[in-house]
This record gives sequence, structure tokens and C-alpha cells, in this order.
Amino acid sequence: MAGKGVFKDMLDGEVYKYYADGEWKRSSSGGTVNILNPSTRKPQYKVQACTQEEVNKVFDSAKAAQKLWAKTPLWKRAEALHRAAAILKENKVAIAEALVKEVAKPQKDAVTEVVRSGDLISYTAEEGIRILAEGKFLVSDSFPGNDRNKLCMSSKIPLGVVLAIPPFNYPVNLAVSKIGPALIAGNALVLKPPTQGAVSCLHMVHCFHLAGFPKGLISAVTGKGSEIGDFLTMHPMVNCISFTGGDTGIAIARKAGMIPLQMELGGKDACIVLEDADLDLAASNIVKGGYSYSGQRCTAVKVVLAFESIADMLVAKVNAKVAKLTVGPPEEDSDITPVVSESSANFIEGLVKDAKEKGAKFHQEWKRDGNLIWPVLIDHVRPDMRIAWEEPFGPVLPVIRIKTVEEGIHHCNANNFGLQGCVFTKDINKAIMIADAMETGTVQINSAPARGPDHFPFQGIRDSGVGSQGITNSINMMTKTKSTVINLPGPSYQMG
Ligand code: NAP
Repeated sequence: MAGKGVFKDMLDGEVYKYYADGEWKRSSSGGTVNILNPSTRKPQYKVQACTQEEVNKVFDSAKAAQKLWAKTPLWKRAEALHRAAAILKENKVAIAEALVKEVAKPQKDAVTEVVRSGDLISYTAEEGIRILAEGKFLVSDSFPGNDRNKLCMSSKIPLGVVLAIPPFNYPVNLAVSKIGPALIAGNALVLKPPTQGAVSCLHMVHCFHLAGFPKGLISAVTGKGSEIGDFLTMHPMVNCISFTGGDTGIAIARKAGMIPLQMELGGKDACIVLEDADLDLAASNIVKGGYSYSGQRCTAVKVVLAFESIADMLVAKVNAKVAKLTVGPPEEDSDITPVVSESSANFIEGLVKDAKEKGAKFHQEWKRDGNLIWPVLIDHVRPDMRIAWEEPFGPVLPVIRIKTVEEGIHHCNANNFGLQGCVFTKDINKAIMIADAMETGTVQINSAPARGPDHFPFQGIRDSGVGSQGITNSINMMTKTKSTVINLPGPSYQMG
């Protein structure tokens, strides 16, 4: 159970403590932050509102711990990560319980997120062992004017202290996708969990605690992003920021100092369906891609661009599947569960109303009860409607009818977001040409957009982010190259 058994030290009465110097601590602020249960809209958990002084101390400890950790043999760092992965998986039920209660993730998906996170940590440990073992050896005489008298050895070294800020929708998985690469590469890590999702994150951090990582190497400071976010992201002791979330990331990138940034931001993933597509395949992917976890996924299908000639048939197939989606509480494993907050539900409703007022065709009745929104497919959407461009992050999906491939590609590329996209066609040459023309970080052919598997490169362009994720990319991003050059007194001996 969350907060019980091995997790009991994390609680101070009904408030979850923050994690610093290898211990669970109460904040001197005396302040707490409420986490509302999206289903009941009532307070579910409380976390500490950490102070700036506490953040300063966390960074001091992180810096000291990192120096020793960087000298810890790579194989030992990997062993510690494997231990954390195993403990995380052992405690999947308790962590999933927190995910259900604070982000309304369907029970089964919550367990899957924890297990996938354990696998991600183990894979990261293995990948780190391989790629960090390798370096480069260069000789000087390939560059004009040089003799062979300089030998350069280069390898990867850690950056120092990595600040990790994940979003609410995958608080555990997107936290470990930052923690694993940072630690295997020899960095220290400071985590700022999302407020909704903080308790799941803290339970995950406790698994690292139980795995026996050195004191101060990992910490988790809680508080509202709007209150402690700037202090954290502009802190002089941060050597790298790995952030996943919405437009907040754009503001952070503008304010951050001269440090490497990994920004994985929003998306408006387009799904282009051509005349020759397998419409059953397209429809099931549109429903899975558009509505799973109530559309609260960065890579959810967020706009369907369907050829006019097949649009009616496609829409009918999608509608038939939407009608079968179950709507209700996450505890019952419903397909559609309440969205994360009232403000999020209000935002979604605003987009839907705008489309309705401008004449879009609704195939389902608009229905909302608190944060619970029934799934809708909004047809005949035009470019003057907000939903054609904005990210709803809810179970509402617009369909735009197109006459040409160029029209579809243009709509995709005209969006500020450029995370992923997908195309459905039986013509593989056409699919590759369209994928090439879509200006997004990834294009899926004949499948819905997806972030996994976690070792695939994953990146957005334009307002969808900078840098690239995926296990290998993240390890590389959280290191820098260090060179040592051996200068010989002259070229090699001439023999014979
Ligand atoms: P968000 O509102 O941007 O929040 C993300 C994180 O930033 C949270 O931990 C939040 O903490 C923190 N934060 C807020 N203000 C901050 C500040 N001034 N400085 C530093 N941190 C601050 O995003 P969200 O609503 O949690 O997540 C939804 C968004 O994430 C969507 O746009 C989705 O597309 C995107 N997303 C992208 C990816 C990807 O890989 N590209 C993956 C998943 C989600 P608080 O919770 O305390 O405010």
C-alpha cells in the first residue's frame, strides 16, 4: 500500500516528506501542497512546500555526492541501478495505487507504467555499461599541416548535477527516463516532481533509497512549480535540465543559463489517412492513439487528416469503436477516466465549444461530469477552429477532411508543434515520401504515434522541444567529451 510497509518513513502524519541527504525530511516552511484526486476533486495527498534554503542545501549535497559517484566504477553504478529497478518492480502495486489516486491513471496502465520504468532503468544500466566504456583515439596527421605527433584520447564524463522535471501524465516513467541516464553517467540528480504525480514520484525515489545509493546523490524537492520552479531552473549549481511538460518548458529554456537542455514538450500529432489505407487498422489506431489515458499523452493522435473519399467510412469505423469505450473511475480500469484537473477540463470544454459554435459536426453528445469527459469525435473541423491547432489533452479528437497529400502535409507542418505524426497507406513508397515531408521528430507508418519503446530516439521540433530522448541519446546528452592529448617530441621513428 502507498505510504505503508517499506514506504512508511516517507510520511509525517498525513504529509509526505521530501527527500534530501539520504533521508525523508519535513520542510521548515511548515507549508504543504494539496494534491487533489481528479476523480473526487477532493484532497488526496499532501506534500511539503520546500523552501529556497532547502533547495540550496540539496544542491550542495548533490555536488559533493557527485564527485565521489563519478569515481565509482561504472559496473558498480550499473549494479545499483539494477537493484533500484528490481525494488521498483517489487513495489509496483503500491506505486500504481498512488498513480490511480493522483493522476486518475487506469489501474492496469498504472501497473504497466511502473514495470516499464523498472525495465527502462535496467536497460539504461546495460546501455551505459556499453557506451560509456567506449572512447575515441585520434591521431593528428589527418589534418593538413600536422605530423603524427599528437595522440588524442577522448571519453565521456558527467556534467555534474542534473535537474529533472517530469510532467503529471507519466510521473514515474518520465522521471526515471531522466534519473537512469543521469546516474549511470556519473551525475547527481535533483528531482522536482509534478504536483499531480508527486506521491508516485516520491515512492519511486524511495526505491532508489532502498537500493542504497549514496546520500545526497538523488533528492526530491516538492512544491508548486509556479513557486519554486524558477529558483530551481535558474540555480547556479544546475549543470543540465531535463524537462518534460508543456509550454512551461519554452519559458524555462529562455531563462536557463549556458547549460545543456533536454526539453520534451507538447504535441499536436497528425494522423494522415490516404485513400488506399487499411481503414480498420487506421480506425483502431486512431481510437487507441487518440483516446487512451483520456488523450492525456504527448504523442496522442490529436488531429485526423482524412481524404474526403474515405472520410465517411473512416469516421463510421472510429465512431463504432468510440461507442465501446468505457467511461468511469480509474479503479475500475475504465478506458476514459477523469482528466487531471478542473482547469484542464475547462480548457478542453473551451476548445469543444469553439468548434461547435463555428459549425463542426459532433458524432457524440458533449457530456461532462466534473473532470470526467465523455469521448467525442469532432468532424468537419476547419482551420479557423482552435481545435485544429491546439493540444486539448483530453478525449476529444478533431477530423479535418483533405483533398490532397500536400494539404495534409501542409497542415501538419504549419503547426507550432512538431512532435510525432503518422500516415496510413498501403503504398510504402508514398508513406516514406510523406514521412520525409512531415516536419516532426518521428513519423510512424501504419501505426499511431508512441514514445516507446524507450530506447528509440524520441524528439520534437519547433515548440515540441530541443534535444533528443531515448536511452542512448539521454546518456550522451548528460555527458560531455573530455580529451587528453599526448604530445610526442616528434613523428614516429623512421626504421630501415
Ligand atoms: P506542465 O504544466 O508544463 O508541467 C510540467 C512540470 O513543470 C511539472 O512538474 C510542473 O510542476 C513543472 N513546472 C511548472 N511551472 C514551472 C516553472 N515555472 N519552473 C519549473 N517547473 C515548472 O505540463 P503538464 O501539464 O504536467 O504535462 C502536460 C504537457 O506535457 C502536455 O503539453 C504534453 O504534451 C507534455 N508532455 C510532453 C512529453 C514529451 O515527451 N514531449 C511527454 C509527456 C507530456 P507543478 O506540477 O508543480 O506545476
